[in-house]
Amino acid sequence: MTTQNQLSSELAALDAMAVKPINLSMPLRLTYLGGPTYLIEIGRFRIVTDPGFDPQGTEKSEGPSHLLTKVMGPPVPVDKIGDIDAVLLTHAQHLDNLDNEGRRLLARVGTTITTPASAKMNLPGKNVQGLATWESTELTNASGERLKITATPAVHTSNPDLREAVGEVTWFMLEWEGQKAGAFYISGDTVWIDEILEIGKRFKVASGILHLGAANVPAVGENYLTMSSADGARTAKALNMNSVYPAHFEGWRHFTQGSWSHRAVGRSSASSRRPA
Ligand SMILES: [Zn+2]
Repeated sequence: MTTQNQLSSELAALDAMAVKPINLSMPLRLTYLGGPTYLIEIGRFRIVTDPGFDPQGTEKSEGPSHLLTKVMGPPVPVDKIGDIDAVLLTHAQHLDNLDNEGRRLLARVGTTITTPASAKMNLPGKNVQGLATWESTELTNASGERLKITATPAVHTSNPDLREAVGEVTWFMLEWEGQKAGAFYISGDTVWIDEILEIGKRFKVASGILHLGAANVPAVGENYLTMSSADGARTAKALNMNSVYPAHFEGWRHFTQGSWSHRAVGRSSASSRRPA
């Protein structure tokens, strides 16, 4: 017969197990927050990508014929987002990837990881790290979970003459213990580049966030600043991905392709992708 003492000690043993860190399985949860912004929860990590929380109507001229206008407010105000361990900032020089409220978030997060050029821009925050292409860093949280982040190639415009003016951007690859299907990425504002094939050789990729929208401003002429839906489908195929989470396709006036576009392209390319 089970005594009260035995029961208490068994419950105590269960409690001890319950507070152990989750180090074998770190489930991934994504929450889309508009524009390029996602809340990514991996195990007990809480990470925000390219934070944009300004109200509708926010505007900034990034140069001649390069006006950015926000046409949609955020679904959650920055003060309601909770504690954030890190921001993954693909570049700091454009308002649609880091707006005024997004800067306020940087001031209270533990770590911001970005490009070397953006790290020199006096961003608010205690620990701002710039990663060069193929360079890695590791985050560890209070539960002992570890997250490896590697910067991989990205190019902001298909016109080489404009690259210096548009500035540096990065793509991030995320790896963690217990990741079964492969790595997870955030593409940043990149167009298709052949180096994406090199990313596929170096990493087994399961899924990721692709910055779509075929962004365009008059200053760049016929060129895009982010992938079109067709380029997104090409990337998913090149990396043999299970799933793509779209970002950077609504919320700003300079995005020329919305969800209608990548739904149509996704349907026609789905038959050539591997099953989920
Ligand atoms: Zn940009």
